[in-house]
Amino acid sequence: MGVTVTTNYQPLTTDCLARRLGELPVLRRRLGEDVAAWQVREVGDGNLNLVFIVEGESGSAVVKQALPYVRLVGDSWPLPLKRAFFEFNALQRQAARAPGLVPEIYHVDDAQALIVMEFLTPHIILRKGMVAGTIYPQVARHLGIFMAHSLFKGSDLHMSTRDRKRDLALFADNVELCDITENLIFSDPYFEAKLNRHTRPHLDDYVAKLRADRDLKVAAQQMKAAFCANAQTLLHGDLHAGSVMVTPTDTRVIDPEFAVYGPIGFDIGMLLGNFWMAYFAQAGHEAHPGVRDDYRNWILATAAECWTVFQQEFTELWRHERTGILFERSLFEDQGDTLGSEQALHHYLQSIWRDSLGFAGVEMHRRILGLAHVHELESIEDPARRAVSERRALALGRHLAVNRDRLSSIHDIHALAQRIDKENLS
Ligand code: ADP
Ligand code: MG
Repeated sequence: MGVTVTTNYQPLTTDCLARRLGELPVLRRRLGEDVAAWQVREVGDGNLNLVFIVEGESGSAVVKQALPYVRLVGDSWPLPLKRAFFEFNALQRQAARAPGLVPEIYHVDDAQALIVMEFLTPHIILRKGMVAGTIYPQVARHLGIFMAHSLFKGSDLHMSTRDRKRDLALFADNVELCDITENLIFSDPYFEAKLNRHTRPHLDDYVAKLRADRDLKVAAQQMKAAFCANAQTLLHGDLHAGSVMVTPTDTRVIDPEFAVYGPIGFDIGMLLGNFWMAYFAQAGHEAHPGVRDDYRNWILATAAECWTVFQQEFTELWRHERTGILFERSLFEDQGDTLGSEQALHHYLQSIWRDSLGFAGVEMHRRILGLAHVHELESIEDPARRAVSERRALALGRHLAVNRDRLSSIHDIHALAQRIDKENLS
């Protein structure tokens, strides 16, 4: 991997990219020496950054560059370039902790806020695959492994106190993106925040009701408290189906620029919440009711398998790679007390589960009533039809957030989701 230190940040364009990056040996080796033949296109469809695909005679790469503002909103909302530094640092750790599940990095340049990485092809964004109704048989297993390994190995269960505190300090400076999460996810949807939007007028009544929904507002703030204060592990920080690229056999997690220390259940809950929104969106994408039933079942099976694989892998890691400062082996296994270690594991997983449900519930609200919505629901063109799916997602989301302490099985949750999916809520 190459590192350059340049000064004078300048955003790249398709016209100047080959000239500006063509000098880098690491890229010439990959793409081909004939820089004039490099083909460059901008493909960024995300909310924040520039993303270019560069293809040369002998290979390809993706160049991702941060902009000094939020792309979705414009230069009225400044955002620091240093987020590329955090994205790079998170990608590097994820590559070591969960090998093969993130894009390979070829080059970074902090001053230009850019990362050059593997061009994932023929991968597509999982969200788009779910709108098209495509089945990805491996994705649940891969995501379960990704979460277990990245979340376990970034925590006190695995790291030495020195490494862990150093990383906590390093990622604590990702404050602007953390601030976005705190506001957009946990607070804005629950008052008349300026950037909120929802399907009008169909959901006006739900929004009005929400303002008086004391239980839900309290639950959302409890989850915010957990996010702010429970620095359990290094999170991806934005782990939804738009941050996952897939083929039928390969899965890669991209875009960890929101990485910060936080509760393990945050990544899991966001991912599950996004599967459940994709599930309720199916009604808006089928030509006749029921046509997509097999796909609905696949989405629920995938969410369940993500959790099951996470739990299995986490259990293995707990039993065999618990080398950190918490629940030391000297207190349990080394004294012959395997049961004690299993008891602690059970408690730990229970609390991750409860957190995950709470985070899933608030995620489902902010994606329907806040600033950033999801493609699966947004692509339902008829607003009345979209609102039907959205109401169902909100009903499940509220139930999860408020009752997270009382829900023990994902299969019960899915049975409830299937009932809600048949209801016409108003
Ligand atoms: P943002 O931070 O702006 O959300 P993303 O990292 O999500 O940016 O990238 C935006 C889009 O660019 C993705 O949705 C995907 O289509 C494409 N993309 C990003 N990284 C890669 C990659 N390594 N390979 C192929 N496509 C990519
Ligand atoms: Mg993104």
